[in-house]
Amino acid sequence: MKENAFTSLICEKFCHYYKPEKETELCGSYFYLQKSITPSELKSLVELLHLDTEIVIKHKLFFVCNKCNFREDGCDFIINKSSIPCGGYIIISRLLNYLNL
Ligand code: SF4
Repeated sequence: MKENAFTSLICEKFCHYYKPEKETELCGSYFYLQKSITPSELKSLVELLHLDTEIVIKHKLFFVCNKCNFREDGCDFIINKSSIPCGGYIIISRLLNYLNL
């Protein structure tokens, strides 16, 4: 289930595909962040590291996409090989890049 604090950080700020009317649907990266970090920790990381929506993909994040409901039907990044992943994917990629992982 989505939480406003995460949605405003992950979806509204970072996701090119966000649709406010679909609040019941969450992707694998949202689920991963929600399970791993609090909204205030995520907000602090975004601010401290000056994370923006620039897309730098070094690795495929199978650990989030493999558990995503949109992977089979609905994700342009995975299905149509678009260059723009969802917002949570962008955040996780940026964090891993920052950590040099
Ligand atoms: S990039 Fe696509 S498949 Fe991967 S977590 Fe985001 S929406 Fe899901």
